[in-house]
Amino acid sequence: MKKTWKEIQVSRCIRTGNKHRWLKPLMLLFIVFIVAIDRTGIYFMSNRKRLLGVGVSFLVFLVSNSFSTPAFQSQVVEIMTESVENMETEYVQELDEEILLEEDFEDEVLEEGENKYSVDEILKNSQSQTIIQSSNETTENKKFSKEDWNLLLVNKQHPVPEGHTFELGTIAGSMKCDARILPELFAMLQAARNEGVYLAVCSPYRDIERQQRLFERKIKAHMSNGYSYMEAYKKASQIVTVPGASEHQIGLALDIISNDYTVLNEGFEKTSAGKWLKKHCKEYGFILRYPRGKEYITGIDYEPWHFRYVGKEAATIIMDNEITLEEFVESISE
Ligand SMILES: [Zn+2]
Repeated sequence: MKKTWKEIQVSRCIRTGNKHRWLKPLMLLFIVFIVAIDRTGIYFMSNRKRLLGVGVSFLVFLVSNSFSTPAFQSQVVEIMTESVENMETEYVQELDEEILLEEDFEDEVLEEGENKYSVDEILKNSQSQTIIQSSNETTENKKFSKEDWNLLLVNKQHPVPEGHTFELGTIAGSMKCDARILPELFAMLQAARNEGVYLAVCSPYRDIERQQRLFERKIKAHMSNGYSYMEAYKKASQIVTVPGASEHQIGLALDIISNDYTVLNEGFEKTSAGKWLKKHCKEYGFILRYPRGKEYITGIDYEPWHFRYVGKEAATIIMDNEITLEEFVESISE
């Protein structure tokens, strides 16, 4: 009679075990293993109809749940790619919420139309002021200090110091900023105008009460979208409009647009005004405060319209080296 697979393997193990006594325990284990495999095989063979049923239902389950099976792999890959993309979009949206525009309200401010002055309105007003010419002083021996009024760092981590005061000067109408930057601001606006670039200034200095009002309005807006007060506060504070953390409060930041491009969005960088400002702002002591690619340092989305006064020497270093105010201040030795 023909020996079964199991019998052949078992007698092989017995023979080996007899030959080498020290292998006996191992062979015993082998035999148990062989018997187990044989048993399983027999079980499968005698229950194949039932098992086939189980298999098919499992397959149906897999497919209906969009899990990966070779037969449906391409479909599944598609579904998975889609869901990854969805996750990415959600993630990006979350990021967007965190790194929002530094002033979530600037659009509103513009809509209100209360806070935008064209270059001509500003320069007409500035006639009593001396417009300084951009000079080419050497910047080499300039010593910087973190205490310099024009290098004051304000961001989420560095709120406006308590009791911080400065003299307000008038840009035009009710629009104000730190009086010390006016001559260079006017000079910059004039220089751009001379080259046919008509700039306009909006939302420069904003006092803390106004910031507070805007912040509360933001909380209310979130609450009307179904958030609790705490959630709304948290969401509102994720943007830099937290009272005390906006550069606009120290009178050194300006949002500059042009007569023919009056929205604060990234498209401004492509306008002649955006290009002119990026190129020439340093000559008047201004920097592009929130550059593209530095969001991880500033915590603020790219803003081609937001300019900050730091003084000509620092501005030249910052713009030429494409760094941020954060990095520049960090590099100043105590
Ligand atoms: Zn701004």
